[in-house]
Amino acid sequence: MSEMDWKQARETLLYSPKHGYDRISDGDRTELESYCAAYMDFLGKAKTEREAVIRAVAEAEAAGFRPYDPAQGVRPGDKRYRVNRGKSVTFFVAGQKPVQEGVRFAAAHIDSPRLDLKPRPLYEDQELALFKTHYYGGVKKYQWTALPLSLHGVLALTDGSVLRVSIGEDPGDPVFCVTDLLPHLSAEQMKKTLAEGVTGENLNVLVGSAPLPGDTGESKRIQLAVMMLLHRKYGVTEADFLSAELSLVPALPVREVGLDRSMIGAYGHDDRVCAYAGLKPLMEMAEPPVHTAVCILADKEEIGSMGVTGLQSQELDLLMEQLCGGTGLRQCYASSVCLSIDVAAAYDPTYGEVYERRNSAMLNYGVAVCKYTGARGKSGASDASGELVARFRRTFDRADVCWQLCELGKVDAGGGGTVAQFMANRNIDTLDAGVPVLSMHAPWEVVGKLDCYMTMKACRAFYGME
Ligand code: MN
Ligand code: MN
Repeated sequence: MSEMDWKQARETLLYSPKHGYDRISDGDRTELESYCAAYMDFLGKAKTEREAVIRAVAEAEAAGFRPYDPAQGVRPGDKRYRVNRGKSVTFFVAGQKPVQEGVRFAAAHIDSPRLDLKPRPLYEDQELALFKTHYYGGVKKYQWTALPLSLHGVLALTDGSVLRVSIGEDPGDPVFCVTDLLPHLSAEQMKKTLAEGVTGENLNVLVGSAPLPGDTGESKRIQLAVMMLLHRKYGVTEADFLSAELSLVPALPVREVGLDRSMIGAYGHDDRVCAYAGLKPLMEMAEPPVHTAVCILADKEEIGSMGVTGLQSQELDLLMEQLCGGTGLRQCYASSVCLSIDVAAAYDPTYGEVYERRNSAMLNYGVAVCKYTGARGKSGASDASGELVARFRRTFDRADVCWQLCELGKVDAGGGGTVAQFMANRNIDTLDAGVPVLSMHAPWEVVGKLDCYMTMKACRAFYGME
């Protein structure tokens, strides 16, 4: 064979993924920036699942979405949504074909790791007022100390009213923090493992240190001062914490990262980066899709998708049954396809030893497709069939989507899962895909802009998949 023949043989027969920036068109480069600017704006205002629902609904309503009314039915092209208890939401654009012939589900989650307040959070110790917290999701506890935190959530009162709380995002607001020990006195702490150095009961949040003028009482002066400030602002008493849902999240802004501004740093990319990627093409859909296109933004993924707002809830089944007009829900599921959009672990050269380089998601190589997740011997995995992966390869390649196939890390290094299994359990063909993330679950995570954009493009192509 000639030199050319060998070159051609090498290109035809061997496979190696290509860097996204070597592949994308000029048009995509421009659209990438405007898409990421919109995402950054969304993320900055969606720091909890409740805020993500409010923000997503506001954007969707501006794009013509209306609350779904089962009594009214839907016509092809109708844009509808349903909020589940303020914490999860499902958007859909009605297709030309009956839902019993299958729909296209894109399923992401909008909850992120954080510090929740305990039911009786407030206490005073040595004239400092603090909140006890209970962490939510998989966190490395030491990462949550010495970091500005903001307080978000609701106070649900016995009269039925619900007050929204958000303190610490406005530059004029105060913030909160978990203190850490000074190095000078850390001789014992430094001998502990990272898992033990800061414990769950160490994650106490500083909320006050001064008594109110005139209070010369003997005990709980600081605690009382904090409670009086809350009473003045919200009209609540300490007992109202019993029915509150308040969380502390990093009070950090969404920022471009790198001299080339090619990355985005923020709290909560996992999984709002995929949530937005799934919602955006639905909002921009101009023509009725062939199959009804559904975007699910679920809650509670970080703790197992349990409960009424997680994807194991029958709320989705109820919505789909109503869309089916009461008959054919199982047929609908059996002929549907789901793209479970959740973040992947981006290869980090600083910790290269836990990754298997050949099968890792690389930053800027596009949306990361995972045939399976799970741990050890694929335990807990939803393993997509080769046939399904082939359908997606065809769909993504036709739409010029930069994509890569990956695993989380080395086989014995650990593992993880997504909502995929809960969709697959409904007899829906499901594939995992999403944005590769550096520092996943840290208070500040990093993603590549190109990957964010390509995940949106993947969802756009998926909604139109044959
Ligand atoms: Mn996730
Ligand atoms: Mn996660």
